[in-house]
Amino acid sequence: MIRAEKISKVKEHVRAWKKEGKTIGLVPTMGYLHEGHASLIKRAREENDIVIVSDFVNPIQFGPSEDLATYPRDFEADCKLCESIGCDLIFHPEPEEMYEDNFCSYVGVNTLSENLCGKSRPIHFNGVCTVVTKLFMITEATKAYFGQKDAQQLAIVCRMVRDLNYNIEIVGCPIIREDDGLAKSSRNTYLNADEREAALILHKALTKGEELVRAGEKDAKKVKDEITKIIETEPMARIDYVEIVDWNQLQPIDRIDCDILCAIAVYIGKVRLIDNFIIK
Ligand code: AMP
Repeated sequence: MIRAEKISKVKEHVRAWKKEGKTIGLVPTMGYLHEGHASLIKRAREENDIVIVSDFVNPIQFGPSEDLATYPRDFEADCKLCESIGCDLIFHPEPEEMYEDNFCSYVGVNTLSENLCGKSRPIHFNGVCTVVTKLFMITEATKAYFGQKDAQQLAIVCRMVRDLNYNIEIVGCPIIREDDGLAKSSRNTYLNADEREAALILHKALTKGEELVRAGEKDAKKVKDEITKIIETEPMARIDYVEIVDWNQLQPIDRIDCDILCAIAVYIGKVRLIDNFIIK
């Protein structure tokens, strides 16, 4: 597996692969890889000649009071995992390699970034769109793989690709969970034993919400209230949002009569966790 820190090195390999007519699958990550990331890399391995994983904690998608400095990192472990799945190249740039002095060009979407995580993280999705665009350009990927775990991000990247005619196919992949239901996340490592136990409330509440919708409940408020009530039984939990939006525009709805995303963000202690379900 090739390890590349420089954009020029990635481009050199990409040029050769493209010359040979190879398809390239890209999996953008911030590293500290777990089975959720592995599922994306495996899928990319199945569907492409070449697999590139980017491993980059993207500073421009973090707000000033967020966890950029403490975000967990273990590049050697990431390399081992990627190699075991048969990844061809791991791209691990320094921030200065991605953002040169006087960097001032950004890609962003509106509407879709107004609600859910966009409300409390106002610069986040412009940072995501910008880095993802750069990664698409650098790798010339045929397909890129994103998890439904970050459902708003998946929706935004799909829309950006459609609106701006990017030459790439976006593949959405299901949420991978721990055996007890907690969605796998690099940030789960911040949780102490008590918080880890308390974090189960997210999946518990969403499971009940999904049951209600599948049983025919059409009143979004009733579903949200039920989810909220369950989360509030956990003293260590503090709700950031519980929201039901239409999956197309990510705008809040009153009646459930379209494809929906039900998404929550909850602080367990100081750790902000997100989870969701989609019903089409
Ligand atoms: P991150 O490193 O957190 O930026 O995540 C990189 C990619 O992995 C994103 O597309 C995430 O949605 C995806 N991902 C993270 N956690 C999971 C999970 N538990 N299941 C599936 N995909 C995931």
